[in-house]
Amino acid sequence: MPAFAYLDHNATSPLRPAVFDVMVEALRAGGNPSSVHRAGRSARARLDTARRQVAALVGARPAEVVFTSGGTEANNSALAGAGRKRLLVSAVEHDSVLKAATGGEILPVDANGIVDLGVLDKSLAASTEPALVSVMFANNETGVLQPIADVVRVAHAAGALVHCDAVQGAGKVPVDLHGLGVDYLSLSAHKFGGPTGVGALVVRSGAPFVSDRVGGGQESNRRAGTENVAGIAGFGAAATEATGGLATTEWRHHLETALLEIAPAARVYGAGVDRLPNTTCISMPGVRAETQVMALDLAGICVSAGAACSSGKVTRSAVLLAMGVESAEAEMALRISFGWSTVSEDIERLIAAWRDLYIRVGRSDIAQARAA
Ligand code: PLP
Repeated sequence: MPAFAYLDHNATSPLRPAVFDVMVEALRAGGNPSSVHRAGRSARARLDTARRQVAALVGARPAEVVFTSGGTEANNSALAGAGRKRLLVSAVEHDSVLKAATGGEILPVDANGIVDLGVLDKSLAASTEPALVSVMFANNETGVLQPIADVVRVAHAAGALVHCDAVQGAGKVPVDLHGLGVDYLSLSAHKFGGPTGVGALVVRSGAPFVSDRVGGGQESNRRAGTENVAGIAGFGAAATEATGGLATTEWRHHLETALLEIAPAARVYGAGVDRLPNTTCISMPGVRAETQVMALDLAGICVSAGAACSSGKVTRSAVLLAMGVESAEAEMALRISFGWSTVSEDIERLIAAWRDLYIRVGRSDIAQARAA
């Protein structure tokens, strides 16, 4: 049995061994991709390879890929660089979109976390000002998939551009930039086995984009600064390894069936709609998420509270609140996410530890737990 069960792939997926090897090779080789000598040309060749690999993951053309320092930068620069002052963003977006859209219009979601297309349509019709709509591909907490092709249809019909944060979708389920018709797509390497601190903004050719960074002309003048060659090479290798995504929802189904058998009043969020095959967001009646995370950690299992922010403090999940979940219940929500390194023993270990905790401190009924 592995030393511990890592079931927090939506936070960061462990580095894939093949990615590690590619990165070490690139670090050893060194070189600045803008230099014309052989060391520079070899670094440039690594970037070119990675650009092709990342483009292939999302059905894009290599020239459409702009490497960034991760998903946060990709989201920030899409919202700033599209040149549209009017922004409409869904209520369940990651903070790197929500906080970059201050003053923007928030699109509500339904009880399953799906954006309301009727409201989007009406809001766009209410003004002739050119807009950018930002809706994520898959939610980081619940795994719920948004109807992106429909968002694009409604938005484009109204003359708006569309940005899609695909940080949690890419490498887990197929994502196709041109098939979906989105104008901007954000990616992050560390969500599917690549290194942290590397990502990309994919800008559809023909979509307007002006970077607010100044400096060198790297990334065809779309992102100044010497590229993180080893990180990008690792990103490319991870993209190739992750192509095809996760094959099955079998483990998620097994896990949720088992947990609901243990605690029938527990609730799986977004259970009725399409979700990432690797993500379960579930409340344990009567047990706060922090308590669950700590107890499971002691049992050798790494998971997250529904809303774990970067400071490590647990706040109430804005995603669940936007879905209409009461705040006391949202505080009991745990996020379990698996990926390439998961083995079935990890899932069984989680089920056993969750059962122990529920028997010790859980409540059989969520209404009672809410009142407590
Ligand atoms: N978007 C989503 C949906 C995410 O889940 C995350 C990370 O948790 C980000 C953006 C930010 O990505 P990064 O950590 O690469 O900055």
